[in-house]
Amino acid sequence: MKEKITIIGGGLAGSEAALQLADRGYEVDLWEMRPNKLTEAHQSGDLAELVCSNSLKSTRLDTGAGLLKAEMKLLGAKLLDVAQDSAVPAGHALAVDRMLFAHKVTKLIETHPGIRIMRKECSQIPSGKCILATGPLSSEPIMRYLKELLGEEQLFFFDAIAPIVDADSIDRNLVYAKARYDKGDPDYLNCAFDKRQYYAFVDALLEGEKHEAHEFENEFFSGDKFNFYENCMPIEELARRGKDTLRHGVMRPMGLEIPSTGKKAFAVLQLRAENSDLTAYNLVGCQTMLRYPEQKRIFRQIPGLENARFLRLGSIHRNAYLNSPAILNQNLSLKVRDDLWVSGQLSGVEGYVECIASGMLIAGIICGEYSSLPEESILGQLWRRLTQDPGKQRFTPVNANFGLLPALDDCPRDKKLKRQMLSKRSLTALGKAFHNLEFNVDEFKLNNLLNDEEQ
Ligand SMILES: Cc1cc2nc3c(=O)[nH]c(=O)nc-3n(C[C@H](O)[C@H](O)[C@H](O)COP(=O)(O)OP(=O)(O)OC[C@H]3O[C@@H](n4cnc5c(N)ncnc54)[C@H](O)[C@@H]3O)c2cc1C
Repeated sequence: MKEKITIIGGGLAGSEAALQLADRGYEVDLWEMRPNKLTEAHQSGDLAELVCSNSLKSTRLDTGAGLLKAEMKLLGAKLLDVAQDSAVPAGHALAVDRMLFAHKVTKLIETHPGIRIMRKECSQIPSGKCILATGPLSSEPIMRYLKELLGEEQLFFFDAIAPIVDADSIDRNLVYAKARYDKGDPDYLNCAFDKRQYYAFVDALLEGEKHEAHEFENEFFSGDKFNFYENCMPIEELARRGKDTLRHGVMRPMGLEIPSTGKKAFAVLQLRAENSDLTAYNLVGCQTMLRYPEQKRIFRQIPGLENARFLRLGSIHRNAYLNSPAILNQNLSLKVRDDLWVSGQLSGVEGYVECIASGMLIAGIICGEYSSLPEESILGQLWRRLTQDPGKQRFTPVNANFGLLPALDDCPRDKKLKRQMLSKRSLTALGKAFHNLEFNVDEFKLNNLLNDEEQ
């Protein structure tokens, strides 16, 4: 038996890390406070409970989520196997029977000779090697501990996410690059609205169907508490304050005259680059609680985004996460306590599969198997984002999308082909790095969860 490791939180990241480490001979103590104490979203005592949707997203290699799963499969992610065993029909997506999935993971962990489960809330992080995987709804003692250890400014409690679109899907004939009052580089892309377009957009926002908020989220959106999170205000709520609120605020057109005419637009929505390769753009100020299909319908009314391909959709929910680039070492341990690693959503990855990936990654790092991962892979880029200075922008949680990847040297015009080439490049690089083999994507997809119909 190797050394002992404590894992706090038996969610997606914690369960994956526990299985990975125990299989490699580590002695794992896994703390989980449920069912004695539930979070605001979990409903059972089972480990790895999926709190909302049952989808682990697409399996297609021309999607970021599909590529991430393929990479994880290659590196031996345990919970993906369980997901496959609990799958329900969902077209190209890997969707699971949520209860069955959680039962199976729980059983695997409970019966593993190398794992001891402690069913209680951890209020003090033990000494020795430890992984903190308490998730976006980490209980209060953990948040207090982190606040004392790191300072409040390194903790984010609330997540307001604006949609991200694929740069290739933006209509460059309509959208123009310009800095406000031409101060600085023209880094932003601008979508100009005329009066009719603007009011139609506002009406659509007001009428759009919203996600039903969880009870705890409702608290954020009522009364005085809402003011506290003014910067995270959903765009549809701003629109509700008055039909001109947006064009006097986040969509103000001043200093953003349309270069071809020199005229001022009625309103302007700005797009900010998500990465240095300029392959993905964030819709500035468009954090939203609108339902996903509604977001696609409404945001495609923005001039220039009629054919937008969304790499990520917007959302707002309580989400405790750390300012990881400022406080983590390269190996994802805390700078102030290098025997404490942070994993899962708390570390700033976003999404079920990303959290499982994070658990797998931490285990590999602790075992000394991963000192780095190829930059061509989504896994490598997720890791990089957690440690790389985000510049002037606030660090926001990161999910799997092609915008993370470095551009291809020889980029084809066909978008689907381009994404397939990016996937092939990633899997080949990972295959070489870890199995020292010439990786054959075609063989791989036959033996794995990938749906090869579209590849
Ligand atoms: C309301 C909500 C809905 C979401 N919906 C989706 C979705 O539909 N799709 C998607 O891809 N992502 C979704 N996410 C984001 C994210 O993928 C999930 O939250 C994911 O479960 C996070 O995985 P994790 O392992 O980091 O944390 P979790 O899976 O939440 O696991 C953390 C575990 O730690 C335990 N814990 C907390 N504090 C303590 C403590 N002090 N002592 C012991 N145990 C503790 C918790 O009980 C929990 O079991 C959602 C997030 C939230 C908050």
